Amino acid sequence: MKILVINAGSSSLKYQLINVEQSEVVAKGICERIGIGGSKLTYKPIGRDKYEFSQEMNDHTDAIRMVLDALADAKIGVVSSMKEIDAVGHRVVHGGERFSKSVLITEELIEEIDKLSVLAPLHNPANLMGIRACRAIMPEVPMVAVFDTAFHQTMSPEVFLYGLPYEAYADFMIRRYGFHGTSHLYVSRRAIEKLGMPVEQTKVITCHLGNGSSIAAVKGGKSVDTTMGLTPLEGLPMGTRCGDIDPALVTYMMRRMNFDCEQMDEYMNKKSGVFGISGVSSDFRDLDDAAAAGNARAKLAVDMFCYRVKKYIGAYAAAMSGVDAIVFTAGVGENDRVVRERSLRGLEYLGVDVDFELNETCPRGAEVELSKPGSKVKVYMIPTDEEMVIARDTAALAGK
Ligand code: AMP
Repeated sequence: MKILVINAGSSSLKYQLINVEQSEVVAKGICERIGIGGSKLTYKPIGRDKYEFSQEMNDHTDAIRMVLDALADAKIGVVSSMKEIDAVGHRVVHGGERFSKSVLITEELIEEIDKLSVLAPLHNPANLMGIRACRAIMPEVPMVAVFDTAFHQTMSPEVFLYGLPYEAYADFMIRRYGFHGTSHLYVSRRAIEKLGMPVEQTKVITCHLGNGSSIAAVKGGKSVDTTMGLTPLEGLPMGTRCGDIDPALVTYMMRRMNFDCEQMDEYMNKKSGVFGISGVSSDFRDLDDAAAAGNARAKLAVDMFCYRVKKYIGAYAAAMSGVDAIVFTAGVGENDRVVRERSLRGLEYLGVDVDFELNETCPRGAEVELSKPGSKVKVYMIPTDEEMVIARDTAALAGK
């Protein structure tokens, strides 16, 4: 089955065409600057050259049309016609409490996703634009929604509730949901396969460290805790997001700085994290370079980030009464050996014995066991593959 995987943002749309039986990406790319002028489609058929097309895309329907034209193009395409696309899988950020699994998309489902936009005002409406555009152009093709929150729906109430009046949860759906679920699911499953233990006995801590970062505690193959909460702002400090803070500082800063709600949101989401601490960049490549060149605040930002990663690893080992494997994934986790080393040093008391030489030299893009052979706790670097999870779920549901 050939599955088109779509990850729609407000002005961008990432796509991959995946042959599920072969677990193989056939083509992938991105539409950028949709509806804001200067639009561009990047198209990469795997194993061949990359193409870029600059052409205005007024909305997501224009974008999907360009993607399909490229995929079925006589010269550079990878399918003979659109009919070869068996189903479309859409990444949807917030599935609330309603969705603990992927589901086939219907008009009713679209309404439900729309209702959940109150919890993810930046993401769900953008995801819906991608869904509506695909349904308009490919009305006969089955489509599936795969939720970022679904994997964490196994968290229990004592974990997902905030210490607020219970009515906040009952009346306003205020609770911790967690995100990056598709990634935590993928890398935890890979780690469990490598451990070779019965799934029910496994305790895995997955560190998805990218521009947005979260850590999950996965016990018996199920998410039992994760660092992100009602929104993807909670937990670790991130590229530009603040992560955990004293909630009292929100009203304090609003009064001190005369911020309204939007300004406070922007302060915490766009101006904070390692970018806000360093004053240099949200990108760990820039931070590592600046720190190596003696920039004290860049070093502080990286140190802060690694300290918090280590703190959550310790917390989750305690929460699960032990840990069998720690996994690093996503842009920073897969590439930044400095972050991995600083986050892991000092965890020997847990039974973590890392081969730091291998950590320095290990190849990118491949799964690597970073712990020494005798280490009680295994440490893995596993490249994440959210698109493959989306494609497999879509094939399973659409094939029925
Ligand atoms: P993601 O959100 O998973 O796509 O991760 C993107 C982030 O990964 C970037 O903002 C960088 O901070 C980080 N990153 C990507 N490549 C590298 C690298 N070679 N070394 C260090 N950090 C990297």
